Amino acid sequence: MPNVRTRIAPSPTGFAHVGTAYIALFNLAMARKNKGKFILRIEDTDKKREVEGGIKVIEEGLKWLGFTWDEFYRQSDRLDVYKKYAQRLLDEDKAYEEDGGIILRVPREYVSWQDLIRGEITFPKEEMKDFAIIKKDGFPTYNFAVVVDDIEMKISHVIRAEDHISNTPRQITVYQALGAALPEFGHMPLLRNADRSKISKRKNPVALSWYQQEGYLPEALVNFLCLLGWSHPEEKEIFSFDDFVKNLDLARVRKTGPIFDRDKLDWINGEYIREMKNEDLKAKIYDFFEGKYDKDLVEKLVPLVKTRIKTLKEFDSLCSFFLATSEVEVDRKLLGRNYKKHLAAAIAALEKNESLDKVPQKNGFKVGDFFMDLRIALTGQKITPPINESIEILGREESIKRLQKVLG
Ligand code: GLU
Repeated sequence: MPNVRTRIAPSPTGFAHVGTAYIALFNLAMARKNKGKFILRIEDTDKKREVEGGIKVIEEGLKWLGFTWDEFYRQSDRLDVYKKYAQRLLDEDKAYEEDGGIILRVPREYVSWQDLIRGEITFPKEEMKDFAIIKKDGFPTYNFAVVVDDIEMKISHVIRAEDHISNTPRQITVYQALGAALPEFGHMPLLRNADRSKISKRKNPVALSWYQQEGYLPEALVNFLCLLGWSHPEEKEIFSFDDFVKNLDLARVRKTGPIFDRDKLDWINGEYIREMKNEDLKAKIYDFFEGKYDKDLVEKLVPLVKTRIKTLKEFDSLCSFFLATSEVEVDRKLLGRNYKKHLAAAIAALEKNESLDKVPQKNGFKVGDFFMDLRIALTGQKITPPINESIEILGREESIKRLQKVLG
């Protein structure tokens, strides 16, 4: 396809929304697949909604996902362009002034287009009415600025969320008034909460920064977002962005709103963690905790926890007991009836440098009960990395100290 140019046009409302990432993903892939260009255009003409630093947050969120753009624009730099186009429409009597604003004359005719995702969409002529293109404060309305920009930036495919379907007829009338060719339109289904309502922060975290802070891997989140809107032709669940680009076909985009299923995301993230080289996972975990765990400790722990964590952050809940600085709190209610005997026998074995595996049989303990008491006394937790390896890493001396402390 020649000269494919796609874009996203987010508003700087204070955070990078996961829905923006989802739409960006499809636009970016469409551009990359066709050796075209992907454009980031900031819609910042609504000064009331703009938040300080909002543009930077969007850029950082997209960069974290590995998304790059070829051109960047801010609508607030382009106010003269919108004025020029509006003036042209006034001069041609296709628009008129009213109450200090400029209004487009809209023919009372039905409007229809072939949507790349939804097929033909038609709006009845009764719904077509004149509308403002420049507000009385001199700023353009969304429906006008978006079209002027899409024309000037030669956007070939407008791929965006389905809540813009109702704006499209008005935008088409702007193209027609300006005598410009229409781009292709494709309206993606909105991401949804489990109850099928539009994704919202009351029911799901929507800021990309949340996913970053919770220790999701950007590649895994991208994979998850791909699957929300699309299915792989070979029905693969785990695939790279490049694989997605190669196989992208908008005809395979789902028409019904995908449920944002965080369990699925956790599963995908866990798969990426398991697939990672130990060396890489070590670096990721070390960086994630900003030095809280030293490199040697992370290196020893990575092979023990790799199959047990679904996010980088979970490393902490499994492993914080290793840190000498962490005073392990042991809730005695978690311990079994025979814990005193169990711990005393474990201390004796550790002091003689004997294997703990033999202790239960020698003393007539139940294996599971013995190790559970030992685990809880050493770590304060019921779920940890394997206990023998953990003791080795903790060191015999430190382990004995912890057990003695619990015995009191
Ligand atoms: N600011 C709009 C949004 O993010 C842009 C819509 C469009 O792509 O035309 O929903």
